[in-house]
Amino acid sequence: MERTLVLLKPDSIQRGLMGKIITRFEARGLKIVGMKMLKMGKELSKEHYSHLLGKPFYPDLEKFMTHHPIVAIVLEGKECVQVVRDMMGPTNSRKALPGTIRGDFSMSTSRNIIHGSDSTETAEKEVKRFFKPEELHEYKFSGSDYAYAPDEQ
Ligand code: UDP
Ligand code: MG
Repeated sequence: MERTLVLLKPDSIQRGLMGKIITRFEARGLKIVGMKMLKMGKELSKEHYSHLLGKPFYPDLEKFMTHHPIVAIVLEGKECVQVVRDMMGPTNSRKALPGTIRGDFSMSTSRNIIHGSDSTETAEKEVKRFFKPEELHEYKFSGSDYAYAPDEQ
């Protein structure tokens, strides 16, 4: 089953939105297979945001992401990479539709409260970047029995 990495960024923690966001993933039928609070180091930030090194906003992004705790979550579900991207809305929260996480909780491009892997290839790398194999849990999730028809599982 497909997996994706979500990060609840420092602004979602500071604004007390962790529970509201996690509730949305649970309610959608996604299975949480890993979750932890951590502080991102500068090295990890540079690796994670390597596509943005050199952008004028990178120093602010690194400072923001490394100075406060974040919550990393691995979600599992059918086509969950795209499902989660759709639930998040676009990078610029002001363009995000109501009903999306960014569209409901954020007004900014740089303080947009959540990260989600942008492709299945990226997701595989990002899950490994943040979680050791023993931090990911295989367990029976009854929700899956009802979130999908038997032939979809
Ligand atoms: N970012 C920013 N300003 C920009 C573009 C991106 O501060 O003009 C930050 C923002 O936090 C964004 C992150 O860099 O979420 C990663 O950018 P990406 O293009 O990967 O967007 P995402 O995948 O998060 O929607
Ligand atoms: Mg991205």
